[in-house]
Amino acid sequence: MSEEKSLHFIEEIIEGDLAAGKHQSIITRFPPEPNGYLHIGHSKSICLNFGLAKKYGGTTNLRFDDTNPVTEDTEYVDSIKEDIKWLGFEWSNEFYASDYFDSLLEFAVQLIQKGLAYVDDSSSEEIAQLKGTPTESGKDSPFRNRTVEENMALFMAMKEGKYKDGEKVLRAKIDMTSSNMLMRDPIIYRIKHAHHHRTGNKWCIYPMYDFAHGQSDSIEKITHSICTLEFIPHRELYNWFIEKLEIYPSHQYEFARLNMTYTVMSKRKLLQLVNEGHVTSWDDPRMPTISGFRRKGYTPNSIRNFCDKIGVAKRENLIDLSLLEFCLREDLNTTAKRVMAVLDPIKLIITNYPANTSEILQSENGPDETMGNRDLHFSNELWIEREDFMEEAAKKWFRLAPGAMVRLKSAYIVRCDSFEKDAAGKISAVYCTYFPESKSGSDNSGLSVKGTIHWVSVAHAATAEVRLYDRLFRVENPSSEEGDFKDYINPHSLEIIPNAYIEQSLLSADLNDRFQFIRKGYFCLDKDSTKDRLIFNRTATLKDAWVKEVKKG
Ligand code: ATP
Ligand code: MG
Repeated sequence: MSEEKSLHFIEEIIEGDLAAGKHQSIITRFPPEPNGYLHIGHSKSICLNFGLAKKYGGTTNLRFDDTNPVTEDTEYVDSIKEDIKWLGFEWSNEFYASDYFDSLLEFAVQLIQKGLAYVDDSSSEEIAQLKGTPTESGKDSPFRNRTVEENMALFMAMKEGKYKDGEKVLRAKIDMTSSNMLMRDPIIYRIKHAHHHRTGNKWCIYPMYDFAHGQSDSIEKITHSICTLEFIPHRELYNWFIEKLEIYPSHQYEFARLNMTYTVMSKRKLLQLVNEGHVTSWDDPRMPTISGFRRKGYTPNSIRNFCDKIGVAKRENLIDLSLLEFCLREDLNTTAKRVMAVLDPIKLIITNYPANTSEILQSENGPDETMGNRDLHFSNELWIEREDFMEEAAKKWFRLAPGAMVRLKSAYIVRCDSFEKDAAGKISAVYCTYFPESKSGSDNSGLSVKGTIHWVSVAHAATAEVRLYDRLFRVENPSSEEGDFKDYINPHSLEIIPNAYIEQSLLSADLNDRFQFIRKGYFCLDKDSTKDRLIFNRTATLKDAWVKEVKKG
């Protein structure tokens, strides 16, 4: 029950602010830079920002932080919107930092006029040199004491395109001796003769992130501007701009970002995986992007529950990928439709069942009766899973073996009488006797068996490609290993089964359907499917295979 859960620190701050009358209601924002697809880390920020507004009756803006024309693209804007909607959230306003370029220019002019900003002709190397180090204070630039008039004229000339990229910058005049490096006269505008995905060629100067972000918050009257811990040192600058410009005092609060095992989470790295062909696309089901998880068959519910479970803290940690998978299984276990599919087939022939006939049996669609039943064709030739047969039964083997009995799911009990091998020595067929009185639902055979296996009727089976995914990385924290993170890619992250046998009901599968292939895992239809060729993605195995492996040692 959410009522029983204790408040996290941001909820406490908000409840305090509301109780003190500091705000009548809250406004949060989610501010992605449209330079890549959203990843699972972003969903933590989305759930937090939208979740808080929902909980406290406030609103959330979606704001694209699009101040860097070179890396941004409308493809990313569209994907970000799709992902947020899919997660189940609605924004009140769709804003763009680029909408504020005129206001931001005005803010820059105000700082110049107050003697709080100056145009610097130094090269980036010279600026870096005078910046000092965390233990050694910086030195003033030779251009620091230009007059207001001179700065105004130069800044306007920058804006009008009189200079080349990098020739001049506008800097805030703060304190070159500050212990916070970000306060040592940060650059607030740079020259970039580049086309912007929204403003086109209107601008050749662009505000820096720090100059755009806080002021955008302020323009939108964001009450609680929530970001990740690495922005703590930026807060002083954030507040400085608000104070000097005398604008709406938004406040910045920082929480620990999500880091997850077997995953990289920076868009820069994800872009490398796509561009260098380690995965097929941003929405490759192995990618930790929201679109990748969606395509793999994750549900919005499972991701929201995951974000809820990991909580909101002030200290960084590494969350186990298994927790996300746990949330997924918890959701799919109650909602996924049960079906049968055979991934690695051998033929089972029932010698006492009439050939060339079939019957229709009933099988449950869900873990209980509430999801109803569906028709299943049964005949004398069935596909079963190779791993469900053993030539010589091991101890505690409850599946098929010569002389052993097993139940065929939703059908009959069969006993294996003999088997056949192909020229290569591989099992090609097993021959069985079935017991007509053992039919599921009306079994009065008096037989009792311990194992149940799945099957698909040979004459009635359809085929499909099945894609089995494993973790993309073979080490827990690829970013912290020596060398390049890509050296730690799992070479077996995708196994393709070109021809699996599936029951007919799957022919009408929809992209939104979630299935449990009984005993094999959770699956969904892939968007690459065509009418003639269905493709299924494995969303997850039924159990956490990796835990088992660790235990085995
Ligand atoms: P990346 O480092 O992956 O490129 P970013 O922080 O540059 O991410 P933005 O588009 O700027 O990406 O992020 C939008 C919002 O999502 C920001 O408020 C950011 O703090 C938040 N965010 C990004 N990554 C995570 C994460 N791993 N966990 C929680 N929040 C995150
Ligand atoms: Mg960013």
